[in-house]
Amino acid sequence: MSDSQKRLPLKDEVADIVKHAGGWLNVIERVAPILAPAIRHHGHGVDCPFPERHREGGGRDSFRFSEKADHEGRAICSCNQDGWSQFDLLIQAGVGSNFVDVCKEIKRAFGGGSEAYKAKEAPAPKRQRPRSTAEDNAIKAASMKQIVKDLLPLGHPDAAVGRLYFRRRGIPLNKAIGDVKFHPALPYYRTRVENKVRIKELVGRFPAIVSAFRNGQGRVMNLHRIFLTQDGFKLDHPLVSKPKKVCSGLDNWSKTPVAIATVPECRTLHICEGVEKGWALHLVTGESVRAANSCTSLPGLYVNRDEFDDVVLWADHDPYNEVSEKHGAGQTYMYKLFIELMRAGFRVCLMIPDTNPTKEAKGPDWEDIAVNEKVLEMPLTERFDYLRTRALEGGVFTPTGHVKKISKETFLAEAKVA
Ligand SMILES: [Zn+2]
Repeated sequence: MSDSQKRLPLKDEVADIVKHAGGWLNVIERVAPILAPAIRHHGHGVDCPFPERHREGGGRDSFRFSEKADHEGRAICSCNQDGWSQFDLLIQAGVGSNFVDVCKEIKRAFGGGSEAYKAKEAPAPKRQRPRSTAEDNAIKAASMKQIVKDLLPLGHPDAAVGRLYFRRRGIPLNKAIGDVKFHPALPYYRTRVENKVRIKELVGRFPAIVSAFRNGQGRVMNLHRIFLTQDGFKLDHPLVSKPKKVCSGLDNWSKTPVAIATVPECRTLHICEGVEKGWALHLVTGESVRAANSCTSLPGLYVNRDEFDDVVLWADHDPYNEVSEKHGAGQTYMYKLFIELMRAGFRVCLMIPDTNPTKEAKGPDWEDIAVNEKVLEMPLTERFDYLRTRALEGGVFTPTGHVKKISKETFLAEAKVA
């Protein structure tokens, strides 16, 4: 029998090493020290060891190893929701460029030669944004306070520009507007880099709609700003790249919503992305509405179970991503929230527009549908049923029923057959 035949296949050799080492986590910690923090905090989310895979935010608290015994050494992160196998993870960590390389490195690490094993030097993880300190948070809170102190209610005589913005969109304001206010002259700063130095400079002061993201205790966690022209359009200015933007919020602000409208005694809550869509949905339903900043803020969004029984989720219908072979982010993240809220004991309804979005033309969202199809001119009691005819599957409901499903259900069932 030749030498190579006597040798176990690499895969079995590694399995043997893993067994003797007391499991995958011990092996991973030795060959890939950058993963040690995640191993030390097994079962909890830690900052992603691969921040380059993340955009702003850098994967804070997002990375974790599986807690299932038969999945030991597998890991998941918001940047890789399908998760890594042990080998893929070690390739990602730079231990080797392929399966065979990784196996060889593991063998080297546990070969027990005279020389103590030293793991390959992994590139120091570069955080795009360092975790903020208490001092940073105090500075952010102070700068937000500076804005908040000058806000006017949108009903104020000096807030006409703000009201005009909503009216132009076909969703005129009324007294129910919630944590959405007006700033008559909000500074817009831009940052440019000159000789590798970041320079923050004032572009100008503009009227703005300012909405507050608050946590469950009512604390302002961040502000969203829509900069406007003096005649009530979204600001179009050569030096303003983002007329709609958030401030630099307090930690974990992104899971807090803007209270667009809070209707006393209303046990039904509507949730969507974005301030204007949120207001359109209040006009459609006359009920309470919370808006998330973006689709990625939807999973984990704070909803108070004491306050609401029924939740209607108004998703964006984003195009299928050919590259990642995944459904669009708007509906995918909203579906995650659907599952979370169902588990938390809410009766939930998911409304995805029955559109055919493409990369070139996203198609109408719920605000567009409400405005273009003159839903606000219909009798209040007919509007939701009408919008169900514009939703995929006529809206998806949790099996426990939903206040929104009771009305005209038979009629809709017949309409679907026809
Ligand atoms: Zn990650």
